[in-house]
Amino acid sequence: MIHDERELLDTDSESLQSHELAHQWFGDYVTCRDWGQIWLNESFATYMQTMWTEKLKGHDEFLYVDIRGNQNTVLDTWKQGNRRPIVTKYYANKDAMFDNYAYPGGGSVLHMLRKHLGDQQFSASLKHYLTTNAHQPVSTEDLRIAIEETTGQSMDWFFDEWLYKMGHPVFEVKQNYDDVAKKLTLNVKQTQKLDLNNEFPQTEFFQTYVDVAIDNKVNRVWLEPKAENVFTFDSATKPKLVNFDYEGTLLKEMTFEKSTDELLYQMANDKDPIGRRWAMGELEKKAATASEKGRIVDALITSAEKDTFWRIRRAALSVIANIYSPDPSPGQERPVVRLDANVEAATVRLTKDAQAPIRADAYELLGETRDAKHTALYVAALDDRSYGVIDQAASALATTKDVRAYDALVKLTNTPSWKGRIQIAGLRGLGELGDKRGLDVGLKTATDTKLSMNLRTAALGIVGAVGKGDPRAYPLIFEKFKAAYDASNIQGIVDGIQAIVKLADPRGQAAIDMLKVKFKDNTGAMQFVATQEAALKAAIGKP
Ligand SMILES: [Zn+2]
Repeated sequence: MIHDERELLDTDSESLQSHELAHQWFGDYVTCRDWGQIWLNESFATYMQTMWTEKLKGHDEFLYVDIRGNQNTVLDTWKQGNRRPIVTKYYANKDAMFDNYAYPGGGSVLHMLRKHLGDQQFSASLKHYLTTNAHQPVSTEDLRIAIEETTGQSMDWFFDEWLYKMGHPVFEVKQNYDDVAKKLTLNVKQTQKLDLNNEFPQTEFFQTYVDVAIDNKVNRVWLEPKAENVFTFDSATKPKLVNFDYEGTLLKEMTFEKSTDELLYQMANDKDPIGRRWAMGELEKKAATASEKGRIVDALITSAEKDTFWRIRRAALSVIANIYSPDPSPGQERPVVRLDANVEAATVRLTKDAQAPIRADAYELLGETRDAKHTALYVAALDDRSYGVIDQAASALATTKDVRAYDALVKLTNTPSWKGRIQIAGLRGLGELGDKRGLDVGLKTATDTKLSMNLRTAALGIVGAVGKGDPRAYPLIFEKFKAAYDASNIQGIVDGIQAIVKLADPRGQAAIDMLKVKFKDNTGAMQFVATQEAALKAAIGKP
């Protein structure tokens, strides 16, 4: 959590700090009565961290990074089949409760609660809840009662559908404008199905306020808990932009059929950054059609350079990268990327962006062209203030295999910096470059016990890449891998195993087998191990 000024260009620890500080109230001042109520600690700390973002970095950042981020995490967890209500008495063990429903799940619900009550009633309710229950264990009912006593509203339905039962609405929205009656009709279906394989109580249909923005004017409507709701709005002309759930308040999935023209208009003109980002995602799908690709990419370039919110500009660049450089299927190498001339020119311009993460992403995409004509640009970027930019520029430089690359990367390995960030960028770059002269730097760094473990394991990449045939290489990499393994140093384990794969030594299977034992209960880690095992087998098979 301790960053120097340069590292703060790429990242900070505001969210972590504000989350932990919030536990002074939600966790210490009042604390959950039992593990089934853990959301009263963790979801509140998670939501308070979003409110700190809102105060510190503004409303757009709050909506885009925190609210949207929380919702996406919960929806991904749900899609993986991991499903439960946020509050339940039924759980295998206490650790099972510290999951995505306890953190972003309840965090998403608290945002909906705040939007339902309004800021003033929301704060007054929380104040009443905290003061009446001070220094006491609490349950979810204490919160509900505190809100009801403060606001005079019945909250049973809200707690029931979002907390005691599981699920979220899946909307199918259709719009129709009647030219004669001058009316816009929105047909909203809830198409979620009960999960028959799951014994937890489930919400069949949701009720809630929804903000519907028509040409950026917000109307609040009440959605009844039924399969289909129909809303009618007066509109003298056909609306150019209809945004269902303005600012993305609801934890939901949604399909809303729109034409390419409507989506392009929304991406450029919606005041809601969540709406602009949604339209961008729909356009990404439509860009697969050859006849649409050109004008969609042009519009994405405009968003990447002109949007008022830098996160949307960065997202536009990432969508462009997805279109031109889709992720290869597992086990396949990423092919050389060919960018159209206008895209390449825009990407070069974005390497000068004011935001460091956008510069870094631009170097990453450009690097995938492996085109040596950008070498001078990459070398110059090694002096960037942002470590994240230096990482990407070093990697891009390595892909060019240009004669200037080796000396420039060695220079980085001799440049002291906070946490060794610049040296590590140089070491990783040398590993990717694969120049035989790098072996000495790799061996020397990997065995220098005065250096940090992160530096030493980063050097293993070079030994793996160019150490083939050198008898020192495998024993050294395995020794460092084993040390990281014994210390459960994840970065060291990853660096070690990747070096082993690069070296393509058949003895490496022993390291893979060790990981299979250590991570047998960790699905995500086991997927990584399987990928590495396949890559090792493929590498050994190569001449
Ligand atoms: Zn916490």
